[in-house]
Amino acid sequence: MSTFKAIVVEKAESGTKASLTDFDEANLMDGDVTVAVEYSTVNYKDGLAITGKAPVVRRFPMIAGIDFAGTVETSTNPAWKPGDKVILNGWGTGETHLGAYAEKSRVKGDWLVALPATMSACEAMAIGTAGYTAMLAVMALERHGLTPEHGPIAVTGAAGGVGSVAIAILAQRGFAVSAVTGRPEEADYLKSLGATEIVERKELSGPVKMLAKERWAGGIDAVGSTVLANLLSMTRYGGAVAACGLAGGMDLPTSVAPFILRGVCLYGIDSVMCPIEKRREAWKRLETGLDRPKLAAMTREIGLSGVAEAAAAILAGQVRGRIVVKIR
Ligand code: NDP
Repeated sequence: MSTFKAIVVEKAESGTKASLTDFDEANLMDGDVTVAVEYSTVNYKDGLAITGKAPVVRRFPMIAGIDFAGTVETSTNPAWKPGDKVILNGWGTGETHLGAYAEKSRVKGDWLVALPATMSACEAMAIGTAGYTAMLAVMALERHGLTPEHGPIAVTGAAGGVGSVAIAILAQRGFAVSAVTGRPEEADYLKSLGATEIVERKELSGPVKMLAKERWAGGIDAVGSTVLANLLSMTRYGGAVAACGLAGGMDLPTSVAPFILRGVCLYGIDSVMCPIEKRREAWKRLETGLDRPKLAAMTREIGLSGVAEAAAAILAGQVRGRIVVKIR
């Protein structure tokens, strides 16, 4: 029997239980590419899966972890050969397909994106699903036509993973960025990433006006609920908001006023089932569009044994920036 280290989520008497254990390779699921996983990350969804706080895991036992970077070991997919460096985000890994907190993963070759030539596996996972989602959100705002000349962009959940990467990308594109945060003590950190203004979350978490003073040309929202609703009501005429998260709640207590009276657009961002062409574009842009020293400054590294603690911390809103997980 050949085994490898993995974090496995199983059903428990009440809820689920995650543990670092030896997993039998014979139990890997179907796929045409087997990857030696080198790095993964801790995203918000990983926090939900490991703690069992939301029903992210839909097959048991499940190896948790929604993204990885590694090297192809074996492949029957013509697109990939042993030695190729690859990235995987989403597609149900860690949810319905055995996931990334493992020394080995077997997946569909069609899910993989080539690791950009100048990027290490560690850097790719410092970006991770959070950072790739931030890029998808920036791409949505730019497709809408927003440029730095239109005005500042608000980024909510600013000190978290999506928020930190979004700020760094937008700043590099020349946008003025308002970092909306519940942790004003992180002002220096947020400014070091490129934020031009720090806005306290409480300014956007109060009662929602149908229309408020026009403040931002656009926004990237990782929070949802009243924060997103207030952001919409404060978006300038013709502006756009890209919504990707629910750290503050799943609801959206808004009205149609921003849409029908100011022509504001709300774009939904999904990283999990995003078509492969858009993924390739996002990773290509991440290669040059995200300052590497800033990425390093927002990232800390842990091992598989540290994932449980990091999972609890990310749900508590205590993680700053990104956590990369060294697998081997
Ligand atoms: P993080 O925990 O790193 O960041 C979330 C941030 O949101 C926190 O740092 C905090 O920022 C803020 N926040 C936390 N709790 C609350 C709260 N109760 N009310 C208001 N704000 C809060 O998570 P990620 O960056 O990894 O993910 C952010 C969100 O995006 C998650 O909901 C995640 O599920 C979602 N996501 C969605 C994807 C998609 O495909 N649509 C892909 C990736 C992520 P601060 O302290 O600065 O206020």
